[in-house]
Formats: sequence, structure tokens, C-alpha cells
Amino acid sequence: MAEKTSRFPGFYKLTLAERVSKIADWADLSVEEAAVLNGGGLQPQQADMMIENALGTFELPLGAACNFLINGKDYIIPMAVEEPSVLAAVSNAARKIRAGGGFQTESTDPVMIGQIQVLDVPDMETAVAAITSHKAELLQTANECDPVIVKFGGGARDIYGRPLPHTPIGPMLIVHLHFDCRDAMGANAINTALERLAPRIAEITGGRTSLRILSNLADQRTAAARAVVPADKLATGDLSGTEVARRIEEANAFAVADPYRAATHNKGIMNGIDAVVIATGNDWRGIEAGARSYAGRNGRYTALTDWHVNENGDLSGEITLPMAVGMVGGATKVHPTAKTALKILGVKTATELGEVIAAVGLAQNLAAINALATVGIQRGHMRLHARQVAMAAGASNNQVQRIADLLVQEKNVNIARAKELIAIS
Ligand code: NAD
Repeated sequence: MAEKTSRFPGFYKLTLAERVSKIADWADLSVEEAAVLNGGGLQPQQADMMIENALGTFELPLGAACNFLINGKDYIIPMAVEEPSVLAAVSNAARKIRAGGGFQTESTDPVMIGQIQVLDVPDMETAVAAITSHKAELLQTANECDPVIVKFGGGARDIYGRPLPHTPIGPMLIVHLHFDCRDAMGANAINTALERLAPRIAEITGGRTSLRILSNLADQRTAAARAVVPADKLATGDLSGTEVARRIEEANAFAVADPYRAATHNKGIMNGIDAVVIATGNDWRGIEAGARSYAGRNGRYTALTDWHVNENGDLSGEITLPMAVGMVGGATKVHPTAKTALKILGVKTATELGEVIAAVGLAQNLAAINALATVGIQRGHMRLHARQVAMAAGASNNQVQRIADLLVQEKNVNIARAKELIAIS
């Protein structure tokens, strides 16, 4: 059988039903799984079991990004996002990266950090030494909390004390537990282990324990993606590929040096990352918290990506960020759309999922700075945004595309004009 390709030229021109049918074929979805994409997703009764005070569900558009070639394997990427142009932009960037051989990714082991706050420590040095000398016992206690994770090859990896000498209320000791969570995001395993460890930590340090909670600055659990875009793939009508590559390097340098720009540069990255994290039922607040704190970890908020012109004159890019995503637990195995999204992705482990997400972040970033450094972001965006403007102005389903086309033609994409056009149509 021929290798599956995620190159679907003209995918955007298909009808919704045709797209679902194509993806269902591609991912071998069952009739039930395909039905999930067509309004059969999370039901109010399921929502009622998931959160308190449930009223119903909240829908977002789910799209498929094409053209992703990651470590030689093709992926279709399900993305849940309300913002127009995210899917088109990322698919377009992935196509350019594909021309350079696709993405190469790697990651650390899925090791999360848990923290125990210890106050009123009589002697900091002795307390830190006590944790080190009791390490084997403490790691064993942590492992006893989650035999399933241990069975799958995960479990406690390290425990140590980190004195914080200067806080607003004086010194305190923070104990860090490193725990390999395998295919789980791991919050529950970590928090359970921390609660079990706390009384013993109090005993051996002579202090008083308070907070016991995982850290979202998951810098021991990172995913990285790299890509090279051949310069000629970046050429526009007016600019050579070499010139565009240089401009992209300049755009990245701006974000590396300036937090005002880095905030928006990273926001563009998270347009892609959050959309996959949400589609797969993962905790996007955790991923956001991890990415943002990682971007500021050296004391100054900076860009999560690096782009530069390489020795061949092509464009090289990379991204590294914390990636606390799971494929078991949380909503991943409960939300019907998340289950279908994971099937479409075809990832086997949480680590593979994290690497795919890093690749999406890199491609989304390339799309944004490529546009910003050349024609600007509004030209492509406004064409797609016009449909949302037409809908907001009250256009019926039949009118939306026509009103949007008129707005674009007139180069006047705003609600007031859309309302006038609806009134006279
Ligand atoms: P979970 O507890 O529902 O499931 C994970 C468990 O599944 C593991 O502990 C393990 O016992 C079992 N398991 C089965 N197969 C496994 C495999 N192959 N690999 C690893 N474990 C396997 O889920 P979770 O990941 O602990 O919790 C995630 C949820 O916790 C998220 O929804 C998040 O919203 C929430 N949460 C987040 C924070 C935070 O980010 N600060 C804090 C608290 C809770």
C-alpha cells in the first residue's frame, strides 16, 4: 500500500460533508466517529458528568490542517479554533516546510515537576541534606501512589530541596519531585504523590508543609521541532526567496529582543498550539501557563522560536517549549470529539502528540511572520475574516459568502457596510 499523504490540494474548496468523508477515509473513522464531527460531539448529559452546575455545551469550529510531514510521517492535524485564517495559514506554512523535508522533532521524557512548600524550617542546610539522604524512601513512597504509571515505565525520578531564602514572608524550602507521567498529563498522579509525601517531608526537615501542587513550568518535559524552508519557496511576486528569508530572520530577532513583540509573536504560536490542545481534550490553560513561563524563564520574556538564514541561504527554524499533554485521563478519553481528533492524528504516545503540537506551533509562527514581513497580515486575514463580519451583521447562511465577497471587493470589511449590503440584497 502506498504511504498516506496529508497533501490534499483543494481541500478547502470541498463541501463540509466532502471534507468529513475524506478525513474519515484517511483516518479510517467508524460511522460513529465520523458522526461526532457532524454535531454528534459532547452531549449535555456528558457535560453534566464532567463539571459542576452544567448548563450545556459550548461549540467551536473544528478544522483539519493538511500537509504536515513530521519525522517522515504524514499527519492531518485537527484544530479547534474560532479565529479565521489559522487553518489556512498553518497548512500553507506546513507545505513550504514539507518542501524542505518536513519537521524533525524530539522531546525529553515526560517528566513533570511537583512542589511541596515547607515553612518554619529550623536549619535549611540540614533539611536539604535530609531530603537527599531519604531520597530512595521518598521516591518509593511516590511510586506507590500510581502503580499504573510505574507499570508503563514511568514513576518518580528525583526529589530534592530548593531553598527560597528571600520571599515576602522570609525563607522557605521548596521540595521538587520529578515524576515521569508517560501518557498522562499527570496532574493527579503528581498531586496525589505530593500529598502522600508531605507528612514525611515535614518530619525529616523539621518544618511545616503547606502547598502541594504540580508546577506548570514543565521545563523537564519539553518538545522541540525544527524545520528548513528552501529559500525559493518563500519568493513572492515582488521579493526573492532570499530577501523574504532575511526579513523573517529580522522579524524573529525583533521578538527575541522585545517583550512587547514577543507577547504577540508567541500568541501567534499559541493560535496553533492551543487549537490542537483543545481538539485533543487537553488542558490548554496548563499548556499556556507552561509556554508563557518558559518564555520568561531567564528573567526577560522572549520569543519561543528561532529563525535564521542558514549557511545555504535557506531558512532554518526551531521551537522548544514545555509540553504537558496526555492521551489518557482528563477529558481526552471522555470527550467524543477529542477521541476522534486523536484517532485522526494517529499518534501512539503523549510524547508523539507533544512533538506534533510543537511542529504546529513552529508552522503557525512561520505563517505569521512570513506574512508580517512581506504583505502584512491583513490581506489574507481580511478575506477570511469577512465571512465572520457578514455573519455578525446578520447575513443568512445563503448570503454569507456573497456579502463577504462584496466586502473584500470594496476593500471595506466592516459590520456597518455588511449591514447596508444585507439591507439592499
Ligand atoms: P487522570 O488522573 O484522569 O489519568 C491519568 C492516570 O491514568 C494516571 O495517573 C495512571 O494511573 C492512568 N494511566 C493509564 N494508562 C496510562 C499510561 N499509558 N500512561 C500514564 N498513565 C496511565 O489524568 P491526569 O493526567 O492526572 O490529569 C489531567 C487533568 O488534571 C487535566 O484535565 C487537568 O485539567 C487537571 N489538573 C491540572 C492542574 C494544573 O495544570 N495545574 C492541576 C490539577 C488538575
